Amino acid sequence: MSTSGVGVSTTMGCVRAVSLDLDGTLLDGSGFASTVPEACRRVATVVPTVDSFALQEANAQVWAILWAEAERDWTLGRLQPGALSLEAWQRSLRAVGISDEHVAKMVTDFHHELTIASYRLFEDVESFLAQLRAHGLRTAITTNGASDTQREKVSVTGLEKLVDVVVVSAEVGAAKPDEAIFVAALDALGSEPSDTCHIGDSLAGDIAGALGAGLTAIWMNRTGALRSAGDPAPHFEVAGFAEAERFLVPG
Ligand SMILES: [Mg+2]
Repeated sequence: MSTSGVGVSTTMGCVRAVSLDLDGTLLDGSGFASTVPEACRRVATVVPTVDSFALQEANAQVWAILWAEAERDWTLGRLQPGALSLEAWQRSLRAVGISDEHVAKMVTDFHHELTIASYRLFEDVESFLAQLRAHGLRTAITTNGASDTQREKVSVTGLEKLVDVVVVSAEVGAAKPDEAIFVAALDALGSEPSDTCHIGDSLAGDIAGALGAGLTAIWMNRTGALRSAGDPAPHFEVAGFAEAERFLVPG
């Protein structure tokens, strides 16, 4: 196989660029679970009429409805920054009998601070991205979500210094698996589908989308999940970036 230019000869052909999903692929979201209980506890210490546990329960119920209503608009950038979180806390507080806007703003801010503090990368991410860069591969983060939220994740974790471009669905106006967001990533990378891999943890978003756009699709399956009948079949499946490194980076 050819190893001309900056491309790397692999079992899949000559790879010149790698597109990466953010949430669940680069970003370990496991710390997020404690942010709602902690935000409720904090606001209850400031506002004694707030029952921390009742607010937590109300928030879970509100999100179950609100996310179904708003996910698409949030992902496609049709909402004001921060508006969805504030709406969720307003509804949650009203459900426990509190309609004070000041309290809603306070708990929204607490939750935002805690959320930022919860962001962390999986431990294999930084060395993998450094390897890709050392071997001259161009890198993109291709992510679904609101611009403010996704860019904050990329900034807070230091990822913006480790990749070449960041492509966010809300800014493109198209979300994975839509081919348009992969086309935007390829344009930003200056690469072609035939020499670009996409790595992501979602079969429905990342793998179906990458296959549809003609990229090599690598499923990041950190949890040992099983594919069901009807799920798209990735070209490759890896349990972590060490496995991906083996065929993207020459030894
Ligand atoms: Mg993901």
